[in-house]
Amino acid sequence: KRMNKDRYLVVVSGPSGCGKDTVVRRLRALHPEIELSVSATSRPMRAGEAEGVDYYYMSREEFQQKIQAGEILEHAEYSGNLYGTPKSEVDKRIGQGRTVVLVIEVEGAGNIRKLYPEATTVFLMPPSMEQLEARLRGRGTEDEASIQRRLARAREEMEYAPLYTTTLVNDEVEACADRLYEIIRQRQQA
Ligand code: ADP
Ligand code: 5GP
Repeated sequence: KRMNKDRYLVVVSGPSGCGKDTVVRRLRALHPEIELSVSATSRPMRAGEAEGVDYYYMSREEFQQKIQAGEILEHAEYSGNLYGTPKSEVDKRIGQGRTVVLVIEVEGAGNIRKLYPEATTVFLMPPSMEQLEARLRGRGTEDEASIQRRLARAREEMEYAPLYTTTLVNDEVEACADRLYEIIRQRQQA
């Protein structure tokens, strides 16, 4: 039976602060064979982040040159900055049967779905809007204006949840990472 390589591609979306990075970090700690796609971004580096680990940081001009050169698989504008998936992060790896996770917002996920119709796509939900705001504030990385933009965008983003293969509520990190792993495994065996 022919394996559909699209299924090795896993998209995780969800409102900013719902816990995507935390859950994916836990998933990879439990299952180190799962790889992460490192995105390009024009947003400034946050404290604690590192070049090539969290993102490839670049100016808007540099980002646009990469789009022109065809090096970016999908990209979107989010909260005033460009974010995109370098082609080099994806095709070779899934071709080799390696599982690659993209943590991207909803428009980018839509573009990935067009390119890879069988991709495994998971929408991570916060337990409540109150929890979302508390997590976003608790992370301590955004100023008030950025928090407000992200919360306003969250309500719009959650309307995209039905387009995903699965919706998961991130109530507890460990349990959520386990459920995410089960979804990935089941899709690859189907
Ligand atoms: P995202 O990547 O979706 O923007 P983060 O992974 O940065 O979100 O998480 C935002 C904040 O919420 C972080 O401070 C993180 O430690 C916290 N967090 C994540 N998941 C949970 C959870 N299940 N319960 C409580 N706090 C969480
Ligand atoms: P943050 O600034 O919090 O790291 O990310 C903001 C949003 O951009 C998040 O929803 C994140 O998932 C999304 N994002 C990160 N990388 C990419 C990417 O390569 N493409 C798209 N479309 N969105 C991305």
